[in-house]
Amino acid sequence: MIFHVLTIFPEFFEGPFAHGVVKRGREAGLLDIRIHNLRDWTSDAHRTVDDRPFGGGEGMVLKPEPVFQAVESIWPERRSDQKVALLSAQGRLFDQAMANRLSRDAEILLICGRYEGVDERVAEHLADKEISIGNYVLSGGELAAAVVIDAVARLLPGVLGNDNSTAFESFQDTGHGGGLLDCPHWTRPAEFRGWKAPEVLLNGNHEEIRRFRQRAAREKTIRLRPDLVGGQEPGT
Ligand code: SAM
Repeated sequence: MIFHVLTIFPEFFEGPFAHGVVKRGREAGLLDIRIHNLRDWTSDAHRTVDDRPFGGGEGMVLKPEPVFQAVESIWPERRSDQKVALLSAQGRLFDQAMANRLSRDAEILLICGRYEGVDERVAEHLADKEISIGNYVLSGGELAAAVVIDAVARLLPGVLGNDNSTAFESFQDTGHGGGLLDCPHWTRPAEFRGWKAPEVLLNGNHEEIRRFRQRAAREKTIRLRPDLVGGQEPGT
């Protein structure tokens, strides 16, 4: 899969993808991340990407021309499996189900807003969707783009090494009563400061361990995220 990111801060992305499974996935050729500088699609000496909002008010707005030109030059003819997503606090909330859907596309181009946001014509006439990573306002779409890429990349075949790994992760609905939180995990030492890891995990009985984990995942979901099993949204 190819991820494109359109940003005025390309250097932001030097860090987030230089570690762990995403880095290894890139090196193995399982995914490609291409960072594009929005200013490359400006034509004035100052490489202007923003302007004042019509109607007055605070801040600046990213202009439509460089954004449209960038997308149209990256994909002169766009296929249906090449998606454009605008990162926006006003978008649909990003979750594991959306990550799964995005992982089935061949390419996605993520537009990072800044300042007061992006000229609305980008959302209306260029982007396939607006994606929010949570009900709060960030200073720019870069962090959100990194979150989306990381969550989607780990779902791509081969990226985690063992494709079954994602099936047991939190929120992953496998169609067998999934969509719960992952079960809790323990590692050595078996006893730490008097707190013991559950005995059943040490006994080597795979069937018992499987049943314990299923029960523990369900209990933890009910305790921390009852909304996932039809209960009330937890308070903060
Ligand atoms: N004026 C906008 C509003 O109130 O909805 C906020 C603009 S924000 C300061 C600048 C950019 O950050 C946005 O255009 C968007 O790209 C990004 N952004 C902010 N919050 C986000 C969120 N929760 N999810 C995804 N992107 C976000």
